[in-house]
Amino acid sequence: MSVISSALSLLGWDQQTHMPPRGIVARSQVSGRLTKNMFELSVAPELGEYLEALEGDRSLSIEEQASVRDLGKQYRRRKAIPSELIEEVAVARSQAQAAWAQAREKSDFSIFQPLLTKMVDYARRFADYFGYEEHPYDGLLEDYEPGLTVAKLKTINEPLREQLVPFMKRLATEGTAPDTTPIEGSFDIDTQRRMARRALEIVGYDFESGTLDDVPHPFTTTIGFNDVRVTNRYLENHLTSGLYGGLHEGGHALYNQGMPESLYHLLLNGGASNGIHESQSRMVENQLGRSLPFWKYFQPILAGFFPQFSDVTPEALYRAVNVVEPSFIRVEADEVSYNLHIMLRAELEAGLIAGEIQVADLPRRWNEAMEQYLGITPPNDALGVLQDVHWSMGYFGYFPSYMLGNLYASQMAVKIRQDLPDLDERIASGDILVLIDWMRMNVHQFGGIYQPDELMNKITGASLDSAHFVRYVQEKYSDIYGLS
Ligand code: MG
Repeated sequence: MSVISSALSLLGWDQQTHMPPRGIVARSQVSGRLTKNMFELSVAPELGEYLEALEGDRSLSIEEQASVRDLGKQYRRRKAIPSELIEEVAVARSQAQAAWAQAREKSDFSIFQPLLTKMVDYARRFADYFGYEEHPYDGLLEDYEPGLTVAKLKTINEPLREQLVPFMKRLATEGTAPDTTPIEGSFDIDTQRRMARRALEIVGYDFESGTLDDVPHPFTTTIGFNDVRVTNRYLENHLTSGLYGGLHEGGHALYNQGMPESLYHLLLNGGASNGIHESQSRMVENQLGRSLPFWKYFQPILAGFFPQFSDVTPEALYRAVNVVEPSFIRVEADEVSYNLHIMLRAELEAGLIAGEIQVADLPRRWNEAMEQYLGITPPNDALGVLQDVHWSMGYFGYFPSYMLGNLYASQMAVKIRQDLPDLDERIASGDILVLIDWMRMNVHQFGGIYQPDELMNKITGASLDSAHFVRYVQEKYSDIYGLS
């Protein structure tokens, strides 16, 4: 399974980067065949027998026990779904994706509505097959963030919302927004590409074990041990898009480059969870990349690529890259408003899966929540309910991982500062690797051995507490916006 998964990753990476357009027909046949092989292995009766014999065997190493735990869970969840349904969903998914793309282009929800209704219905059936204790959405969350439930999400979301919504308002009404003119202008794409490469080197991304390629929608993919590839995109009029996109994907890649080879053979190279994976990208992109110490080090490097920055201070750059503004589009959201975009989606998803919200009501419910959380109403559905691809793919339960990544990263950052009291000075002087080494020691090397809650307790001595994130954004942005 590890070998087939590696081959599939390589085919997928090639398809998005270098494959000629007409290669898609042959490629789909190969990928489809390997996906089928992979699925058959994951539900093979022999595997079921091995797992039964090995589950609970304490003489196995801690890595082996974790592998048995994950494979066993996957085996049972896949076995629970009737095989006819799997094929049926695959067909509906490609139709739903096509309908979604068309609906978004025309900003017409009615084109997507019938297929979305179908996808929601499948998700509800999946939740029933998987099983859950309290809420059907729990059955789906388990795929992305083991142990996460609607009840837990509520305890995370409510205090967050109570703090963030009024804080956003205070920034807008009482604060002074930073001047963004220092980073405005037109920037040569090839120079940006070289700068992103340099930024990746600075954070310790190993180009002997990875590559950097251009794509329209950046991602990171792990082909295997010592082969973890990053992709990025550059916009001529938006310098920070390529820089922070690169640092974000670099953070994901460092996680995989920091795992030992043994974890790859045990299929533990996916990390502790999607949320923990995202925390590693956010650590590099935001906790590091959007900090003042980083800009103290990086300003002269930036000026080496773009000489117009020679006279711009690190403080001015730091302020310019930290603007908070309610926006319609999640992927463009700042650190403060980002989690509100996720809460909105998670609440709608839970309602859809429980049957409390009807698909036909989604555009209205979406816009109401935007008004309530961010004080803005999308002018059309393309900028609202139709913006994300996830639902057309049947990914219900995915969104919370993005938010958890921000929260986990803030909580880890508190511990990092306890362990490394001189962190800011060291980063400002160019010792970025002191942070990356901490991440490698505490997070990367363990891959998927621990469940996310176990890992957080092991690292920070406590389960996830969103208060750390609230404190982080309040302190940082009160200072930038001049709030007392
Ligand atoms: Mg990410």
